[in-house]
Amino acid sequence: MISFGHVNKYYGDFHVLKDIDLTIKTGEVVVIIGPSGSGKSTLLRCINRLETITDGSLTVKDVHLNDKKTDINKVRRKIGMVFQHFNLYPHKTVLENIMLAPINALGISKEEAKKTAEFYLDKVGIPDKATSFPSQLSGGQQQRVAIARGLAMKPEIMLFDEPTSALDPEMVGEVLDVMKALAEEGMTMVVVTHEMGFAKEVGDRIVFIDQGKILEEAAPVEFFENPKEERAQVFLSRIL
Ligand code: ADP
Ligand code: MG
Repeated sequence: MISFGHVNKYYGDFHVLKDIDLTIKTGEVVVIIGPSGSGKSTLLRCINRLETITDGSLTVKDVHLNDKKTDINKVRRKIGMVFQHFNLYPHKTVLENIMLAPINALGISKEEAKKTAEFYLDKVGIPDKATSFPSQLSGGQQQRVAIARGLAMKPEIMLFDEPTSALDPEMVGEVLDVMKALAEEGMTMVVVTHEMGFAKEVGDRIVFIDQGKILEEAAPVEFFENPKEERAQVFLSRIL
């Protein structure tokens, strides 16, 4: 579904991603972990070309993202992204927030968009919040709306960049539960998170990145019980 081949990325002189080789299969849940500033967000953002790679090859469903002929909007429609900050429109209701992109980007009718929005709002467990405004919701509920908004575009891949990092601790679980359900339905997911319980339970594979390099890539049991790289051991001892 997603394939990085010898990908390098620079921000000016700064070498942020170093020789990244990573393949993510359909239906796989890959969890990216690593210290702050190691390049996790950059790696994720390259997948929908919010950042461009400097060299190497990066494909999504065999489409080369750094090819000039690539219609990036077509690729982006297959990819949903959820950030740490939910970025909901404050003056629109929950339902309107979810309906917006399908109407504008996919050109579907308002009625159909409403049905779709209701379906996904139900899926994330807050059907009763349809007419509320974001400010009337808790952080966890807002993030679930953001997930529903992503799903309403019917993506084939969902990218999550620290989706629970801005939440109060008691709201982390409800968001992770929604993500877990999505994973169980077979969604292809790339998740940057510091939630090691989620990584262990839901991840098919853990990718440990440090200073722009993938240092270790392993099944969760293997990674958490027997990390091979010293940097990974140090990271885990700090976080667990
Ligand atoms: P992480 O998500 O792992 O914390 P990031 O991918 O956000 O790491 O950032 C990796 C490094 O690249 C950091 O040192 C950061 O300061 C730098 N960086 C991120 N975005 C930019 C940018 N747009 N321009 C220059 N440097 C950046
Ligand atoms: Mg980040």
